[in-house]
Amino acid sequence: GKHERRGRAVLFSSDHEAQINSEARIEQALKLADFAQELTVAFQPIFDIRSQATIGFEALARWSSPSLGRISPAQFVPIAERTGIISALTRPLLEKALLEAGKWPDDVRLSFNLSAHDLGSPDNLAAIVGIIEGSGFDPGRLDLEITETAFTHDFEQVHQSVDRLRRLGCGISLDDFGTGYSSLSRLHALPLTRIKIDRSFVTGLHKNPASLKIVKSLLVLSRDMGLDCVVEGVETREEMAALRELGAVMAQGYFYSPPIAQNDVLSFLHDQTMP
Ligand code: C2E
Ligand code: CA
Ligand code: CA
Ligand code: CA
Repeated sequence: GKHERRGRAVLFSSDHEAQINSEARIEQALKLADFAQELTVAFQPIFDIRSQATIGFEALARWSSPSLGRISPAQFVPIAERTGIISALTRPLLEKALLEAGKWPDDVRLSFNLSAHDLGSPDNLAAIVGIIEGSGFDPGRLDLEITETAFTHDFEQVHQSVDRLRRLGCGISLDDFGTGYSSLSRLHALPLTRIKIDRSFVTGLHKNPASLKIVKSLLVLSRDMGLDCVVEGVETREEMAALRELGAVMAQGYFYSPPIAQNDVLSFLHDQTMP
């Protein structure tokens, strides 16, 4: 009874400490990092459900810290966002992603994730616009992914930034759609071109009537708003079949392909065109 509870309390607090400790270590390593050296970009295919052809790739950050080893972006991106370090990461990542995508066939698009800090500051935005313009990559082939968390910052500033990027010719995707809290009127105010339906609605979709209904209505909503739609996190043949049935057009997920190394993109595309 008593001992057990005490033991658990101790265990809990040391777990908690370990987590704080590792966050502090990640933050420290981020502050010391040489991002141009330590960051690479992986690319995950986005494909057309009907033709099964690759339409584009999403750039995903990969960080190998000399002191901590490989750390997942699910871990370090939130810390980099909280501490404002994210904009120092965005610049080399965007440069690397555009450099790679410049080697791809003209009809293959690039998706790139931006965070609230990137959009909430005029200086950060200017740097991003400068990198896009300096790369020679056609902004009309670039989709910038933003999440609803960006709107909890200075919405006016974010709105202006998004408008600027749209005028430049970039597509604007609303990522993780359905998981945030923003009102539809706010979404409507932004010049969106695409929504990405979050993986949480897709897992086990074929045997979950609630998920099916949600995905179905999000597909209708995106169609009515004149937006493209990508369904994220498709892992199984059954999920894929259910999505095709619902009329979903584009998808992304382990069923088709996990993120791949930058040097494997061209052979991935090549293998696909082989009979
Ligand atoms: P996200 O933007 O929603 O990216 C999709 C994540 O889902 C990626 O994780 C991808 O590897 C993973 N994924 C793809 N298909 C499947 C699937 O079928 N099943 C499952 N379980 N997962 C799948 P990753 O690469 O670990 O990235 C995690 C998050 O970190 C991203 O979520 C994004 O929010 C953030 N992130 C990654 N790279 C960047 C970046 O360059 N900039 C910013 N601001 N955030 C980034
Ligand atoms: Ca994304
Ligand atoms: Ca997403
Ligand atoms: Ca996500």
